[in-house]
Amino acid sequence: MHRKLVFAVVAAGIVAATFVHAQQPADNPIPEIAGLPAAARAAAASIDPEKIRAHVRFLSLNLLEGRGPGARGGELAAEYIATQFALDGVEPAGDNGTYFQHVPLVAVHTIEDKTKFSLVPATGQPVDLAYGTEIVSKDQTGQATADFDVPIVFVGYGIDAPEYNWNDYAGVDVKGKIALMIVNQPPSDDIKFFKGKALTYYGRWTYKYEEAARRGAVGVLLIHRTDLAAYGWEVVRNSQAVEKSYLQNDSSNTLRAAAWIQHDVAQRLLTLAGLGDLDKAIDQAGKPGAFHAVELPVRLRAHIESRVRRYVSDNVVGRVPGVSADNQAVLYTAHYDHLGIDPEVKGDNIYNGAADNGTGCGILLELARAYAQSSVRPPHAVYFASVTAEEQGLLGSQYLGLHPPVPTAQIALDLNYDMLLPIGIPRSASLGNADRIDFWPTIQRVAKAFDLALLPDPNPRAGHAYRSDHFSLARTGIPAVSLGQGSLFEGHDEAWGKQQAQDYVRLHYHQPSDEYRADWDFRGNAKMARFGFVLGWLASEQPKSVEWLPGDEFEAARKASHAQ
Ligand SMILES: [Zn+2]
Repeated sequence: MHRKLVFAVVAAGIVAATFVHAQQPADNPIPEIAGLPAAARAAAASIDPEKIRAHVRFLSLNLLEGRGPGARGGELAAEYIATQFALDGVEPAGDNGTYFQHVPLVAVHTIEDKTKFSLVPATGQPVDLAYGTEIVSKDQTGQATADFDVPIVFVGYGIDAPEYNWNDYAGVDVKGKIALMIVNQPPSDDIKFFKGKALTYYGRWTYKYEEAARRGAVGVLLIHRTDLAAYGWEVVRNSQAVEKSYLQNDSSNTLRAAAWIQHDVAQRLLTLAGLGDLDKAIDQAGKPGAFHAVELPVRLRAHIESRVRRYVSDNVVGRVPGVSADNQAVLYTAHYDHLGIDPEVKGDNIYNGAADNGTGCGILLELARAYAQSSVRPPHAVYFASVTAEEQGLLGSQYLGLHPPVPTAQIALDLNYDMLLPIGIPRSASLGNADRIDFWPTIQRVAKAFDLALLPDPNPRAGHAYRSDHFSLARTGIPAVSLGQGSLFEGHDEAWGKQQAQDYVRLHYHQPSDEYRADWDFRGNAKMARFGFVLGWLASEQPKSVEWLPGDEFEAARKASHAQ
């Protein structure tokens, strides 16, 4: 585009933006809500879109180098957040009276040209697998080398779910062996059987690795089939081409080979074992009572070499004291880490992460400021945790869940913010699994007052309930919700919002171009912050803590935490 034309378009945009701003009544951004004291309402109203903008802009500067955990830019981001807490009067709630909670991590990178996997049948020639195109793997233990030659056991979907009367491991022992399994979960249209079409945690590959490790398996071969995984082999391959981090000393990370194999390789394996057609076996494995785990007459032989790097990255944790003791604390979370710098990318190689998750950090910092500077204290303490290593697999929040600032049972509710595009004022919100906690009627009431229609999860098959930091806290029992915006925005139709989100994902998500834009409109981020402020205040004010509804998958963990 010609330079003069660019200028004309930009100038027209500025005029339009000014006009929109002038229309917004600035004096009364918070609706009247029963139970919310006037002073809390004033504190919520003080949340300032331009302050959120300032945080997002700073955190996504090239100077911050993409906020990689354990890297200089990540440390600068943590120091910035801690400094803002201090300036705003938020108390430190990390290790030893500081704002920082040290999270010990270990990064593992499989050295492709030194790693070798082969399928070894009882009779006949071994079949070597091509690393990258046929198999990818990580040694979770953080040791430099691994050598083994062990039997392979086919365990269907690799799921043990007593509530669905389902156990793929029945009748076999995978201790010291390789568990071969299918991605996803048994297909279902019945809400009572693996929640119908929604993805349960049993369908996530993280669960499958965890369950096999609990049973003492040496490794897992996850069979990739594009339609079942909902993404292609390139996604698997690319995500494994970079190093992957784990929490240090995490006793559940015991797999020497946490691996994925291509569909064709799995078919070759079944043929070697004399088990016939793979897709038929997959069908069979999804039918109740039709599948029995079987040890194959084929072994997996492996020599694995890994480059291992131990490092520490910090969660930043602050606290605003409440009127009474901590025993019904509210927690706000937002990850600050992003993907850092990729030296192998030519040109712009800094992953600025302005939307992901500069926006969540800006919101968290404004929430913390509003609580700390409120003229009345909240009924109970409120904690603010900007966590690290989310992009590495929710690791900072996992560590926070294992080492909470107050005992788990005393945390009433976690509200998490992750990537809210600052593109205007949302009129709908998506709160994932919020309808599974007993606070849901209050959430509905507040959303209505804020003119936010509550949307069901737009894509339950994608398993978003298990893919953001709130999940790390939910699995320890804490009622935890991510506050996302929907696709309806003031002045636009639903299709516009969907298109904006789609374009963002296609053009900028997890790319160096996720950069701050001066034309971003942060009034929506402020609205979602105020919405979360009111929810947190009301949760703090309730006569009792928030709980999962009876029968929920996280209810048992909550009960266990209360019993401690
Ligand atoms: Zn991300």
